[in-house]
Amino acid sequence: MKKTYLITGCAGFIGSNFVYYMLKKYEDILLVNLDKLTYAGNLENLKGVEGDPRHVFVQGDICDKELVESLFAKYDFDYVINFAAESHVDRSIANPEIFVQTNVMGTVNLLQRAKEAWYDPAAKTWKEGKKYLQVSTDEVYGALGAEGYFMETTPLCPHSPYSSSKASADMFVMAFHDTYGMPVNITRCSNNYGPYQFPEKLIPLMINNVKHHKQLPVYGDGMQVRDWLYVEDHCKAIDMVANGGKVGEVYNVGGHNERPNIFIVKTIIAQLHDRLKDDGISEDLIKHVEDRLGHDRRYGIDPTKIKNDLGWYPETPFEKGIVLTIDWYLNHEEWMNNVTSGNYQKYYEEMY
Ligand code: NAD
Repeated sequence: MKKTYLITGCAGFIGSNFVYYMLKKYEDILLVNLDKLTYAGNLENLKGVEGDPRHVFVQGDICDKELVESLFAKYDFDYVINFAAESHVDRSIANPEIFVQTNVMGTVNLLQRAKEAWYDPAAKTWKEGKKYLQVSTDEVYGALGAEGYFMETTPLCPHSPYSSSKASADMFVMAFHDTYGMPVNITRCSNNYGPYQFPEKLIPLMINNVKHHKQLPVYGDGMQVRDWLYVEDHCKAIDMVANGGKVGEVYNVGGHNERPNIFIVKTIIAQLHDRLKDDGISEDLIKHVEDRLGHDRRYGIDPTKIKNDLGWYPETPFEKGIVLTIDWYLNHEEWMNNVTSGNYQKYYEEMY
């Protein structure tokens, strides 16, 4: 039976990958993609689905009550999957308010509109087969020491304005489940990498800078550890949780691929040096800069629950994923040139 999804923020990095993943996997599906097209949203990311009647793009804000209401009036959504967010920690340190607005208020607006469409207050029942899925992050758990992993039961302890806004949104999602019985899931994933990622994030930023022999800004000693997951594996997890996750549950998503940032940077240098046969590419480009305020030292996900309950596993080892990713950016020079022109230049000069 045809399923209809309201997906938000899917002109961004993970969301656009999710659109490709779902349209490849399901013939009979309708994806209504609501995206404000902030600096991070880019219709070029969706060029490959232009003309596909299974994908409808709507430009708008998840905080817009009337707009979201009108979408629920027009479509009988089976799922809401909320990717839309302000997602960059550095920007949240400089300007926290927009993170509260989009990540918290936007989430509450989606929850409220979904509840109005799906819930019968007189009968106190929810329509069959509906689900709200919140795409969240491991950053809500705070930081780890050298040992241990984040479990779904780990208390939320966010440190940055970004992670605080995501944790707050997660709490509202759970509040809608606990208070009204809303069918929800939350996924909390580790750092993603892959095609279509905006080059303010570590991997595309470094690929672009290395290629152009620009300095490679590395925060502090570069020994901050992140658990890297190829974006397609995250998309697979979201699909599995939407379609098989037990209502009311949180699922951690991660591939046991912990790497220090400096290792990632050196890997990109080595790969591009060999690939482009360019001796101007060397570790001399690395420039250690003052560490990010409140920088979490280590994140590490325990994905046992999603593996055991839903059979999810990461299909792309880091060694393969990083090659695919570098290939993609090298083969999409025009995409990179377009996103790094205009406002990006000003932002880049201020930040780096
Ligand atoms: P992104 O910044 O690349 O994309 C965000 C998208 O949301 C953009 O298309 C933007 O235009 C849109 N958007 C922003 N504000 C909006 C608003 N008010 N209304 C409608 N659309 C709006 O982000 P991403 O890296 O693709 O992350 C997607 C989601 O996954 C986020 O919720 C993020 O917290 C979560 N997440 C990301 C990672 C990661 O490594 N990138 C890891 C775990 C979880």
